[in-house]
Amino acid sequence: MANVTRKPSKAKSRSRRAANQRIKQSLNLIECPNCHTKKLPHKVCGNCGHYGGKDILNLSKD
Ligand SMILES: [Zn+2]
Repeated sequence: MANVTRKPSKAKSRSRRAANQRIKQSLNLIECPNCHTKKLPHKVCGNCGHYGGKDILNLSKD
């Protein structure tokens, strides 16, 4: 079984954390044309369930 041989240096931990932060910041969010909240492009809006001008998830009927 693989063992940990050495404690990762501060530089290694910090650079990994910084890279993850950069990924999160670079997430490309667009505004939903229906409810104007931020959503991922090419995905159904999680807030109102609309995509491409249609109500896909029918969240507003309840
Ligand atoms: Zn929406």
